Amino acid sequence: MNTADILILGGGPAGLSTALHLTRLDPSFARRILILEKEHYPRPKLCAGGLITDAEVILERLGLDVTQIPHVDVETAHFDFAGRGLKIRNGKGHSIRVIRRDEFDAWLAKNTENRGVEIREGVTVTAVLPDPDGVTVETDAGTFRAQIVVGADGSNGVTRRCILPNEPLSTSRTLEVVIASAAKQSPNPQRLLRRGERPPRNDIHTDAYFDFFPVPQNVAGYVWDFPTQVKGQPMRCWGVYDCNLLANFKRPALKDLLAAEMSRRGFNLDDCEIQSHPIRWYEPHKRISVPRVLLVGDAAGVDSFFGEGLSPALGYGAVAAQEIAESFRRNEFSFGRYKNRVAFGGLGQTLFARWLTSQILYPLKWAWFQFLVWRILQPLVIVIAWVFILNWSKRLK
Ligand SMILES: Cc1cc2nc3c(=O)[nH]c(=O)nc-3n(C[C@H](O)[C@H](O)[C@H](O)COP(=O)(O)OP(=O)(O)OC[C@H]3O[C@@H](n4cnc5c(N)ncnc54)[C@H](O)[C@@H]3O)c2cc1C
Repeated sequence: MNTADILILGGGPAGLSTALHLTRLDPSFARRILILEKEHYPRPKLCAGGLITDAEVILERLGLDVTQIPHVDVETAHFDFAGRGLKIRNGKGHSIRVIRRDEFDAWLAKNTENRGVEIREGVTVTAVLPDPDGVTVETDAGTFRAQIVVGADGSNGVTRRCILPNEPLSTSRTLEVVIASAAKQSPNPQRLLRRGERPPRNDIHTDAYFDFFPVPQNVAGYVWDFPTQVKGQPMRCWGVYDCNLLANFKRPALKDLLAAEMSRRGFNLDDCEIQSHPIRWYEPHKRISVPRVLLVGDAAGVDSFFGEGLSPALGYGAVAAQEIAESFRRNEFSFGRYKNRVAFGGLGQTLFARWLTSQILYPLKWAWFQFLVWRILQPLVIVIAWVFILNWSKRLK
């Protein structure tokens, strides 16, 4: 039987960040960790790849510079309701940095291996069975035994299903497409505005857009439009996010919403391959560990308001590493304090703020209310975002 002190199931940002933070706390952890990843890097992962500054702060603390991989810098992020709203710029020159996940995760994995951690690729976990003395992990490459397990296997992961089988889940639905950047722009914006349509976007190579126009139609989310690149070619990533908080009401098909908005911008959804994937969101009262097994990233739950999961995944790694290091020091693996460690640090504070914001802003779904939030109350919204939602990584230990 294969054995390891710490088995990390899933080599996405959350699992790799846990390993990197453990080696940051104590380099000797490297030889005690084994990561099992079902794919081979570079592997595709459906994601728009928007990295907010908090993600970069965490990477910098790990000694990693994300500009080493291809990326697109977004100067201004627009948060609109039906074509207009507030703008966020950041003193650093970019408000969001857009990466492709195949490149980002492969880069993170290489850096993790460079610190001495073994990653076994092409191994699919099928069952996770904790007992008082350790954890048995069944895979398609045999059985593994560990002192503790970190479930980092994403929204559809097997770890959570095994350890918390009866816990109800809250997930968002998303659709995403990537399309060549060249769009036909309307020659007459004023006429379009008079007809109630959208003003044209002249800055599509530098700006990212989040438009909450679907909320009054009972879709608790937004349509996004990001600049990105694929193998050096400028592209755009479009998608629609719905955290399902209005699922009891009649909703249009997400595909139709996305097609209509893309067409207003001169893009044709029929030219694209549509992909979808759920995002599990954080709820403050839900369990995220059992004795000897703890969950990180999407497996534990990320941002319900935007579906922003990359910075939380990296943040979970920092918190989990501390919990694990302390449990080895005490030789006690109940992980009874992990949920509070997440909740009362910077990560839990931002996830709670985003959860609360979703619970308030999406059910108040009337067009006039969304108009008020995104167009009229801009200074207040920016202050709330700055204080409660962003800049949380500085409060991580
Ligand atoms: C359409 C879409 C767009 C998004 N856009 C953004 C965005 O712009 N910005 C942002 O911050 N977040 C975004 N997200 C969210 C973000 O992608 C996730 O929150 C993030 O990937 C979570 O990281 P993770 O490591 O927890 O899980 P994952 O990235 O899902 O990694 C899990 C890993 O576990 C492996 N795995 C799974 N099952 C097994 C198994 N049984 N055995 C072994 N290995 C296994 C997988 O192969 C994978 O490598 C988006 C999500 C979607 C769906």
